[in-house]
Amino acid sequence: MRSPLQWCAFLAALMVALACVSPRAVAADVTVPILVYHHFDATVHDEMTVRPGTFEWQLRYLRTHGYHVIRLRDYVRYRRGAGPPPPPHAVVITADDGRRSVYTVMFPLVRTWGVPVTLFIYPSAISNASYAMTWPQLAELVRSGLFDVESHTYWHPNFKTEKARLDPRRYRAFVQRQLVLSKAVLEHRLGVHVDLLAWPFGIYDPDLMREAGAAGYVAAVSIERRPAGPKDPLLALPRFIVTDHDVGAAFARLLDPAPKHHPSQAAPKGSR
Ligand SMILES: [Zn+2]
Repeated sequence: MRSPLQWCAFLAALMVALACVSPRAVAADVTVPILVYHHFDATVHDEMTVRPGTFEWQLRYLRTHGYHVIRLRDYVRYRRGAGPPPPPHAVVITADDGRRSVYTVMFPLVRTWGVPVTLFIYPSAISNASYAMTWPQLAELVRSGLFDVESHTYWHPNFKTEKARLDPRRYRAFVQRQLVLSKAVLEHRLGVHVDLLAWPFGIYDPDLMREAGAAGYVAAVSIERRPAGPKDPLLALPRFIVTDHDVGAAFARLLDPAPKHHPSQAAPKGSR
């Protein structure tokens, strides 16, 4: 047993030791799964549809298994050396394309469970396409304080197709317009600061990454089934597409493919 004085000395030594660990050393093995949702419906039509009950099961799983849902913005700030490291078992939730079901289904559940979500929106669809949200709905999500709205380009082009179709000068102008206009419209319409981007169809290359940086984006997300780690460039962070099949062991594996902690921590009794 240590005396209170010994404890004080021990804690002081511990704090000095922790202060000596450089942020880079701490950063070395921090990985964060970034999840991407698209559409919510009671009936599963395709791989992009998640049923409301499935989404709620996933939110409950995250809560009961010690996961912390953090804002994508906070992970990016940390990666840029401007913010603290994420808490243990951090997860990011995003949703692409601005579907109406984000407002009708996802919003009430997100409010109930109090988790932050980053939306990637292509403004040409908003208050325009029948499947998309309206500007007032998006504004309401922003006002809730739970949603960040970021860019998914202006009209969600396939940059591979456009590159093959256009001459290099036109293609470059096209890319710049998609990146700049989306950010400008979202900022103007919603009064938010937009500097994160989701690559349409997950398509990116070094030229596109350079253009995104020049257009004022500090990070961009793609689609690859692995957690984001320190080796991933900020302008190409991987994300998992969440499907309706991602329940039970499949969801547990998605979040933690090789659990290092004790199973009793990972699966409290009666929470399956
Ligand atoms: Zn999309």
